[in-house]
Amino acid sequence: MAFKDMAMQLLGNLLEYELARRQENLNILGATSGDTGSAAEYAMRGKKGVRVFMLSPRGRMSAFQQAQMFSLQDHNIHNIAIDGVFDDCQDIVKRVASDLEFKQQYKIGAVNSINWARLLAQVVYYFSGYLQASERGATSVSFAVPSGNFGNICAGHVARMMGLPVSNLVLATNENDVLDEFFRTGAYRVRSRADTLETSSPSMDISKASNLERFVFDLLGRDARRTKSLFDDQLRERGTFDLSGDHRFEEAAIRFGFRSGKSTHADRLATIRDIWERYNTVIDPHTADGVTVARMHTSPEMLMIVLETALPVKFAATIREALGREPDRLQRFDGIEDLPRRAKVLPPDTQAVKDYIADIVHDAN
Ligand SMILES: *Cc1c(COP(=O)(O)O)cnc(C)c1O
Repeated sequence: MAFKDMAMQLLGNLLEYELARRQENLNILGATSGDTGSAAEYAMRGKKGVRVFMLSPRGRMSAFQQAQMFSLQDHNIHNIAIDGVFDDCQDIVKRVASDLEFKQQYKIGAVNSINWARLLAQVVYYFSGYLQASERGATSVSFAVPSGNFGNICAGHVARMMGLPVSNLVLATNENDVLDEFFRTGAYRVRSRADTLETSSPSMDISKASNLERFVFDLLGRDARRTKSLFDDQLRERGTFDLSGDHRFEEAAIRFGFRSGKSTHADRLATIRDIWERYNTVIDPHTADGVTVARMHTSPEMLMIVLETALPVKFAATIREALGREPDRLQRFDGIEDLPRRAKVLPPDTQAVKDYIADIVHDAN
């Protein structure tokens, strides 16, 4: 029910195939505030050779998201509800992953948003969208993409580099506008945790964009040394770099077609209402950010495709606020909140998580 599911399902099959060929196992460790965790678990459930350990902040995901993940009964899926916030979960994952000995012994891996197979699968959306639009006679097609870690829109950039005739790639952010700022000014200014807001489009609440390096590499004429110095030296030391003085930054718009804009909670609500009144269609809050920003960049001769990134049922509270009604849900999810749940509650403690993983792996061997 989020765009991540599509790519993750390809990855699930690729992993199962390749692990069997190598006669290996993999324990996927991740942290989620909602969409990534459910996408990974549904993609990996029942897959041979793969186990998933997914950390989430206890009681902080939407009721539906909790039900979606915790109701899975597959033996290779392990939900760990951490008594803490999302950042605690992410810190634990980073600490476990940086313990190389543990990582090797327990064959720990990740399926995060910089995973190339996920990005690759997303390229297909753009070809498919373009073909559907051109069948209807469109000659000029642009895409607007609700963005966080720059994964989805990076796939659009790849599609365009492959030759797909896309006019503009319109990047939409919410109040966490680090990417809009970069495309407007050339300054990439990573935010601190304290400066990262909790919004009603939570999957876009990011402080830095983990795939941006891929685009900057192309922007700098594939100059690996310069890219490395920006991301490894300047960003780490100062938390920022600035390309505004670099003539190549202008090419972000001209050569690569990028545009950007930012949407707020009020915009989100107004757009959800407007789309409902005009088209009798309910869109989720992230997609609403995409529509809001798309409208800042449309012109009469251009066909603009907005990527819908999730179904509204996952974000019922905002839909209620905007429309005063419940979002529709697919029949197969009726009563999901009442199913029995499987989640291990642990304190925000790296050792406790390591011990839990070790226990499960030893029990299986
Ligand atoms: C992950 C996600 C996004 C952001 O996508 P990125 O690839 O991180 O830019 C937007 N909307 C929804 C619903 C998401 O789950």
